[in-house]
Amino acid sequence: MKIVALAGGVGGAKLADGLAQLSFGADLTVIVNTGDDFEHIGLKICPDLDTVFYTLAGVANPVTGWGRAEESWRALEIVETLGGPTWFRLGDLDLGLHLERSRRLRSGETLSQITSDFCCTLGIGAQILPMSDDVVPTRVYTNEGEMPFQEYFVHRQCHPVVSGFRFESVEDAQPAPGVLDALTKADLVIFCPSNPWVSLDPILAVPGIRDVLSSKGRIVAVSPIIGGKAVKGPAAKMYTELGIQPSALSVARHYADLLSGFIMDKIDAELHESIMDLGIETCLTNTLMTTQEDRYRLAEEVVEFGVM
Ligand code: GDP
Ligand code: CA
Repeated sequence: MKIVALAGGVGGAKLADGLAQLSFGADLTVIVNTGDDFEHIGLKICPDLDTVFYTLAGVANPVTGWGRAEESWRALEIVETLGGPTWFRLGDLDLGLHLERSRRLRSGETLSQITSDFCCTLGIGAQILPMSDDVVPTRVYTNEGEMPFQEYFVHRQCHPVVSGFRFESVEDAQPAPGVLDALTKADLVIFCPSNPWVSLDPILAVPGIRDVLSSKGRIVAVSPIIGGKAVKGPAAKMYTELGIQPSALSVARHYADLLSGFIMDKIDAELHESIMDLGIETCLTNTLMTTQEDRYRLAEEVVEFGVM
């Protein structure tokens, strides 16, 4: 069975990790948001891609969900001593990857080629694909003006009030090699519990992706909103600021035209009928992934429900 997962960073990587542990893990393709990517201290940083990569490689920091385990911060201490920017945390081990990737990008290789080589080197069985090799930076409209995504997300810690998003140059972007092919051949497409606005919408905005998805029968999404709240990050805050009540129902509506099924948390059982009214089958289960076992169990349930 061929499975494609669409993912952002922390929430997406956890479910992708569970999917990769299933017996058909080798037939898993994870298409990852690159709208968060940016240039920082002379290096190309791909936060979501790296979170998925580190998680599937088993070297992710278990506490933060992003960055690497057993990280040290000596290089950044020097940057600080010299008066450079330190608001974006880059550990020593992490920096090693950014140095090598930036070097290869400068020599003309594509992000998808480099990612594929890194996956081979670390023995990752699943295929990890950036949504595009083109640069499609997410811009956030806020009450303090329009700003680059990482300025909003990390530097300003999501304090500005959002009024919308823009995926710069997305109309000229192409899906990375392998993306449309994987989607076309997939028996099941899974929208991971990622931020709908800034993790999955950028992927869906890349020309061609939505068209392929529109012709697929089996697409399921896992709600990143549980009990009206995000497990982590600004998804719920964004819904509220955009004038929409944050809920599993709002997430289901967000993707309603594409979904055949929706996986939501048991604590949201009262929304179940409203989601069924959208013409979407629903599955109620525990969707919070705290342990490694949670990831595996949820992945198994999502696939079982998705192919039904
Ligand atoms: P980011 O790019 O690092 O922000 O990560 P994602 O966009 O992939 O994931 C962020 C979303 O994941 C947030 O909206 C969280 O609510 C959601 N999330 C994180 N952990 C879990 C979990 O264990 N279960 C579910 N259902 N959602 C989660
Ligand atoms: Ca992200």
